[in-house]
Amino acid sequence: MPHHDSDRALEVTEQVREFIDEEVLPVERALPPGEEVPEDLVEDLRTEARERGIYAPQMPEDLGGLGLDLRDALPVYEQSGRSYLAQPAMRVDAPDEGTMHLLERLATDAQREEWLRPLVDAEVSSAFAMTEPMQGGGADPTMVKTRAERDGDGWVIDGHKWWITNGSEAAFFVVMARTDPDVHPYEGSSMFIVPADTPGIEVVRDLPHLGEATLGTVHSEVLFENVRVPEENLLGEEGEGFAHAQKRMVPARLTQCMRHSGKARRALDVAEAFMSEREVFGDTVAEKQAPRFDIADAETKLRAARLLARDAARAHAAGSDARVEASMAKYFTTNVSQEVVDTALQVCGANGIGMDLPLSQLFADARIIRIADGPDEVQKRVIARDAFENVDEREVEHLSRFGDPRRP
Ligand SMILES: Cc1cc2nc3c(=O)[nH]c(=O)nc-3n(C[C@H](O)[C@H](O)[C@H](O)COP(=O)(O)OP(=O)(O)OC[C@H]3O[C@@H](n4cnc5c(N)ncnc54)[C@H](O)[C@@H]3O)c2cc1C
Repeated sequence: MPHHDSDRALEVTEQVREFIDEEVLPVERALPPGEEVPEDLVEDLRTEARERGIYAPQMPEDLGGLGLDLRDALPVYEQSGRSYLAQPAMRVDAPDEGTMHLLERLATDAQREEWLRPLVDAEVSSAFAMTEPMQGGGADPTMVKTRAERDGDGWVIDGHKWWITNGSEAAFFVVMARTDPDVHPYEGSSMFIVPADTPGIEVVRDLPHLGEATLGTVHSEVLFENVRVPEENLLGEEGEGFAHAQKRMVPARLTQCMRHSGKARRALDVAEAFMSEREVFGDTVAEKQAPRFDIADAETKLRAARLLARDAARAHAAGSDARVEASMAKYFTTNVSQEVVDTALQVCGANGIGMDLPLSQLFADARIIRIADGPDEVQKRVIARDAFENVDEREVEHLSRFGDPRRP
């Protein structure tokens, strides 16, 4: 889709495509299916990404990145979605990529050096702690119960979080907590950088879950009890936690869209190759009209999904908050991705669910992303609210005359 991406984006995307084809996919294909990837292997790929000048493309140059803005970064994220190894190799992997954006926008100079630089360099990993068990914040973040209270020249944090990606492995958390319980949570919440070795933090367990075993990704339940951090660990301004998180949400959702359209692309590449080779009842699967038309549907929907994410990024770049557009893109792309991967899996027969091909892993990823970063229903809530805020008054006026028997 070249006409939607800048020359700079196309150039970097092409470099990334070559990196993935030449370095990443051969390594991915040689790995024993289903086994956890050794960290030194990811580190070797990072070295190669650095040498090719495509490491952390979303970060500013002074931090070792390429300084791409959101629109230029999106096609790069899409390429990176083609292999689960490409994302950590290029340091565009969640959740650290999200933390990097947050710190890049909000960190003081001291926080930048202490937390952001080593994060970009992959010396440490991070976790973002917002979601809470049953009575706390989840799809509805206004229910966040974790408290941070001022105490002398610092803060004391108490709360219970779960589904925190990297929770048991991170060097530090960014914790969302209520700092003023007397105002609406959107005005009374703040974010804190909390080193993982601070007394009072207890990782209860890593939650068992679907998929993601290959990269060893964990999602943890974590208790914060009387956890003391100094004033300088406040991230951004007091009371602005949600405002900052909201601003981060649109880019975060769009980068997820692109990762997952890249994953769907990979699924189609695999399926189309398989279908062209595998013969059934006298033809290749590719020559049978029903699966052929399924592929036509999948290609069409995937193209529409890619355009929708670019449309949201264009609105964002033009100064709109692009919340509705980003919700449409997240909802549509992740559902299309799941449908496309499911089609790809079906046409490959048993090999679709086997682990020699990447499809079962992609299927789990596609299912997960319809919940993580805001479930479908939260996206539809945003879209519908906008629709009903903009009801056409002329249509209302026309309807109001329906009950009048003398209406013209
Ligand atoms: C793989 C993965 C990684 C994650 N990583 C992190 C992380 O690093 N940090 C973090 O803080 N959180 C993380 N989360 C949590 C994620 O942000 C939440 O799962 C998500 O916000 C939804 O919250 P919940 O699971 O508590 O769902 P709940 O709030 O329990 O909602 C349950 C369901 O209710 C329905 N629902 C919700 N609202 C509405 C509505 N308005 N109308 C109709 N139906 C509705 C939806 O179907 C929703 O799935 C992760 C989740 C997953 C799956």
